[in-house]
Amino acid sequence: MSDAIDGRTVPSGSEAGGTHCRFCAAPLELTMVDLGKSPLCESFLPPDRLESMEPFFPLHVRVCERCWLAQLPSFVPPSEIFEEYAYFSAFSDSWVEHARRYVDMITARLGLTPESFVVELASNDGYLLQHFLPKAIRVLGVDPAANVAKAAEERGVPTVVDFFGRTLAERIVADHGQADLVLGSNVLAQVPDLNDFVAGVSVLLAPDGTTTFEFPHLARLIEGMQYDTIYHEHYSYFSLATVRQVFAGHGLDVVDVEELPSHGGSLRVYGAHTEAGRKASHAVAELLERERSEGLFDPDRYLRFAEDVVESKRALLELLIGLKREGKQIVGYGAPGKGNTLLNYCGIRTDFLDYTVDRSPHKQGKYLPGTHIPIFAPEKIMETKPDYVLILPWNVKDEIIKQMASIRAWGGQFVVPIPEVQVCA
Ligand SMILES: [Zn+2]
Repeated sequence: MSDAIDGRTVPSGSEAGGTHCRFCAAPLELTMVDLGKSPLCESFLPPDRLESMEPFFPLHVRVCERCWLAQLPSFVPPSEIFEEYAYFSAFSDSWVEHARRYVDMITARLGLTPESFVVELASNDGYLLQHFLPKAIRVLGVDPAANVAKAAEERGVPTVVDFFGRTLAERIVADHGQADLVLGSNVLAQVPDLNDFVAGVSVLLAPDGTTTFEFPHLARLIEGMQYDTIYHEHYSYFSLATVRQVFAGHGLDVVDVEELPSHGGSLRVYGAHTEAGRKASHAVAELLERERSEGLFDPDRYLRFAEDVVESKRALLELLIGLKREGKQIVGYGAPGKGNTLLNYCGIRTDFLDYTVDRSPHKQGKYLPGTHIPIFAPEKIMETKPDYVLILPWNVKDEIIKQMASIRAWGGQFVVPIPEVQVCA
């Protein structure tokens, strides 16, 4: 059964998966958290759409008790989300710098030379691969979004516009040969057919090549109560143990792992062909043990997380209700995807937040999906002088508190909702 919404065909729950694990096909019976229904977190509304119907999809994360992959069904086909992608990585200075440091590190570590061949999956606008160009290392980007791929080509980064999987991997090998390095940053979570994708990595990777993937670490999501990083575009939430099983299913070994601060706490895993016989570093065994001691392979840990999320919602609402009863004005800062999960789950609308602000001109003048909170430019805060500013992108809260320090002139205070609700004077 499919529903047609806005002329788009949206698969129902059973077609989208959701009853069985997308990696190992075991039945999914354990709930990690059920956040109710939300609209797609990037579907900001123009004023003329406020009175129209709006599609909402379940945000119910289940965990496979065989391979411990936490997952959402892919209600929204990736072609809807990723073929015209609004996010240009090169606009974020810190992300471009992160990419530059990675390129220097991996070039030295693998001893890459102008004879080497590097492929990035979900290469976006070439923000990362561009750093290989001065080293004369041959690169190829793969990205389904034609608009960002065009920006990459303009930077001198050749890019294949397509979704990656086994078929495309075979085509790239036929045209360009196998790759010495296959890399992906924040793509693994967004792949609906995980097995086809990793099978493609195995096909594309040269016998003695290395693959690296970065993704948010499930352990940090749970520990940091980062339930708002759950949204429909993120189909999978990985531990190291699960990635290791997925790799092994396609003839790849995880040979090393690093913990990174990005996106609330990420992992960078290094993989190689099992046949290459590389020995895994001590860091792999150490982190696997830590994941075990943190309870990631224990159903009770997930049940406790689900309860903690409900309590976190109650605590945030308790604060906001108290402030409104005292007649305070509260507004938001930011319009990130995670903000939309939080606000929709908690039922926070203009009854609590008069408006939110965002630096992106593409969002200003629009309304948050579901909650219909209007988005203005940050200057609005200086005009209305609110008593409290709720910071939605909590991962950059220090930067925002510094930028907006002038709200203290009228006694304004910041509220940070995650990992637990906190007022910062
Ligand atoms: Zn599974």
